Amino acid sequence: MRTEEDFMRLALVEAEKARDINEVPIGAVIVLDGEVIASAHNLRETEQSAVAHAEVLAIEQACKKLGTWRLENAELYVTLEPCPMCSGAIILSRIKKVIYGATDPKAGCAGTLMNLLEDERFNHQCEVVQGVLQDECGNLLSNFFRAIREKKKASKQIEKLNG
Ligand SMILES: [Zn+2]
Repeated sequence: MRTEEDFMRLALVEAEKARDINEVPIGAVIVLDGEVIASAHNLRETEQSAVAHAEVLAIEQACKKLGTWRLENAELYVTLEPCPMCSGAIILSRIKKVIYGATDPKAGCAGTLMNLLEDERFNHQCEVVQGVLQDECGNLLSNFFRAIREKKKASKQIEKLNG
């Protein structure tokens, strides 16, 4: 029996795939009856699409695979807390449970800025587990952004030298 951490590691592998193509490293997997049925990573830059988030891409994959928009017994693992759009897609696809790693103070809608997933005013609620492999998930993101800042700094210095 695989644990929540095992599945989060698979989501981390997806996040690393995003990092390796210079996308913000966020990954997601969807699990049904203990089996991974979809896995995806952020492709916003590659697709030049504002909606190409890991969760949305994984949900689309899972719906295609199962031939239904209802993912009622599925669990979604994602390395970063879902944004408003992804939280909406999670509610609409009736996913049973979301397990996420790092919290997102700027867009998190699964408990940080608000909690769309557990709001009882909606016709569906989704169980939320937060903080699974939080440090690994968060470090992947902060290392990515640090590398970008350092690259920018370096290119500014080169400009100065040439100027
Ligand atoms: Zn999102």
